[in-house]
Amino acid sequence: MKKIISLMVCLVLMMSVCLTAGAAGTTTLNGKDSVTVGSEVELIVNVKDCADASSISVAFTLGEGVELVSGSWIKTGSIAKFDAATLKGALGGLASPDVNGDLFKLVVKAAKVAPNGVEVAVIVTAKKGSDEIFNANAAKVVKIACATHTYGEWAETKAPTCTEKGAEERVCSACGNKETKDVAALGHKYGDWTETKAPTCTEKGAEERVCATCQNKETKDVAALGHKYGEAVVTKEATETETGLKTYTCSVCGEKKEEVIPVIKVESEAPVSSDTTVETPDTDDTSSTDVDANADADANANADDEKGGLNTDILIIVILAVVLVGLAVVLIIKKRK
Ligand SMILES: [Zn+2]
Ligand SMILES: [Zn+2]
Ligand SMILES: [Zn+2]
Repeated sequence: MKKIISLMVCLVLMMSVCLTAGAAGTTTLNGKDSVTVGSEVELIVNVKDCADASSISVAFTLGEGVELVSGSWIKTGSIAKFDAATLKGALGGLASPDVNGDLFKLVVKAAKVAPNGVEVAVIVTAKKGSDEIFNANAAKVVKIACATHTYGEWAETKAPTCTEKGAEERVCSACGNKETKDVAALGHKYGDWTETKAPTCTEKGAEERVCATCQNKETKDVAALGHKYGEAVVTKEATETETGLKTYTCSVCGEKKEEVIPVIKVESEAPVSSDTTVETPDTDDTSSTDVDANADADANANADDEKGGLNTDILIIVILAVVLVGLAVVLIIKKRK
């Protein structure tokens, strides 16, 4: 008895599988997921894997919040009907038995704000003769938001820190739409600088300040102070032959610095070096050389003059001689006549 029952169950299951296999294929409803209230939404019924059909029909159900605007067939046939009251349509006398693809266009108006969405559903059935060869349904939820939101107060969703920005959110009381915005990072709130390492004469020091909010520490260098040398102390006197030494001592760290004292110069009676004579007022010497130079120049000029004089004298003598010789020649010629 149990076997017979299980066999029967199996048969029923197999039959149902065969039946559903006969009505294989899918329907989808495509369009916008969310719209603002008052706007129209276009929903396209698409059919896939539908075998050759002789007629096809659609039946819609609209959730509360959307209203029918229009319904029209995309595929063509000699009979194309849509009843706005029942939301049912039929297409017969098909131009082509292939009804796959975009089949029907439904336009609805988003009438009410619906943050959770309004469902639009469709059942598509196709027949070949009197046999149903396709039966598939689809649904789409369309969220309807306010045209103008009624937002409440901004509420912090993430607190800003010294370095990272935070976030705030506000919610529309009508549609639940959320708006978010960033909140600028606060920036550190540092206290005063405090010395963590005192600078010395030669080594730099350090200072630190701490943020009161996040305890972040900031450090900076403090320049080395440099030695503070006092008056020089002669540690070795200079002599006429040897250099001496002066010592400076840093009053802070005791660092010593030495400086050479030059050899003591003895004033000689006749200074030979020109360098030494520069300091002593030996203006007589220099002026005398100037005078000498002038005298030389004069002498040269005179010499030049003398040379010039000599040349003219010779010229005069030559001319006189020529004239005398000429006269003598003339006299001699006259006597012979
Ligand atoms: Zn809203
Ligand atoms: Zn901080
Ligand atoms: Zn020092």
